[in-house]
Amino acid sequence: MKKCYTCKKLKNLSEFGKNSAKDDNLQINCKCCYNKYARDYKKRNPDVYLRANAKKSKEAVTEYQKAYQKIYRARPENKAKAKIYQKKYHESF
Ligand SMILES: [Zn+2]
Repeated sequence: MKKCYTCKKLKNLSEFGKNSAKDDNLQINCKCCYNKYARDYKKRNPDVYLRANAKKSKEAVTEYQKAYQKIYRARPENKAKAKIYQKKYHESF
């Protein structure tokens, strides 16, 4: 039995996915919580899932990169980073 990190319930080891990076080779979340997390993640980060389509054509790759950059740049912490980067770039000339 292993305790799920998310729902804190004790579940059979078969209820946990594999993760070779962990000491016990299992995910910290049960499959139920992991699936729920994956669904939410997909909803929050649709850009990540454009990657799957990106394999199909170069056009799709461009679309993926555009979408990613749009989301990436929209984050306030990255906006600040870009500003610092631009400043440094201009100062070096
Ligand atoms: Zn769980």
